[in-house]
Amino acid sequence: MPLQAFDAAERLAQIRARVRAAGGTDASLIAVSKKQASDAIRALAAAGQRRFGENYVQEAVAKRRELADPALEWHLIGPLQSNKAALAAQHFDWVQSLDRPKLVPLLAQARAVGAAPLNVLLQVNIDDEHSKSGCAPQAIETLARAVAAEPRLRLRGLMAIPAPYPDPARRRLAFARMRVEFDALRLHHPGIDTLSMGMSEDFEAALAAGATMVRIGTALFGPRPA
Ligand SMILES: *Cc1c(COP(=O)(O)O)cnc(C)c1O
Repeated sequence: MPLQAFDAAERLAQIRARVRAAGGTDASLIAVSKKQASDAIRALAAAGQRRFGENYVQEAVAKRRELADPALEWHLIGPLQSNKAALAAQHFDWVQSLDRPKLVPLLAQARAVGAAPLNVLLQVNIDDEHSKSGCAPQAIETLARAVAAEPRLRLRGLMAIPAPYPDPARRRLAFARMRVEFDALRLHHPGIDTLSMGMSEDFEAALAAGATMVRIGTALFGPRPA
């Protein structure tokens, strides 16, 4: 256990240094803990990491309950099925994967009145991949208006997972296009402050393009258990 805690502190310090060198801050970093054991999350939390990203609603609910640490902030970054929307609204602080109008009332109605509004990012399918979730860029503004009209939701910005092109120039292009979408959305929604893009392989390029939040899994935790 002490060795693991030491590893976590070391990894976190290294990644934080790279994030800062690329223009981000410690708060920009979401530690993606999907499929990672609660002990590993606890070790990172002990080293000072507060924000965690999970892909599966039920897995996250179980871990959050197990860790029982009110200082931690939980972000849903995986695709959201309608039948999990209520659970997500009750157990996450942020939903980064809102990508269709149907989810808006489902999330809003399930968010407890006593809780802070649910922070929402709209996921954009920036490379127009058939297999990916995310809305088309042309659909952003309509979706944004629907979220902004819900007092139980708080629109914070956009999220994207660009296609994993081997060519870094193509990824940079996707990040740059997301930045354009973000700036355009901010003209109508001046309160938004979050552009979530960049993962272990490409977070420095994402920060250079204007990301305010990066989602890093394997570079922090090591490979995910199968
Ligand atoms: C798994 C995942 C990540 C983290 O990926 P790594 O390559 O392990 O850093 C980031 N964002 C989303 C949406 C993911 O599903």
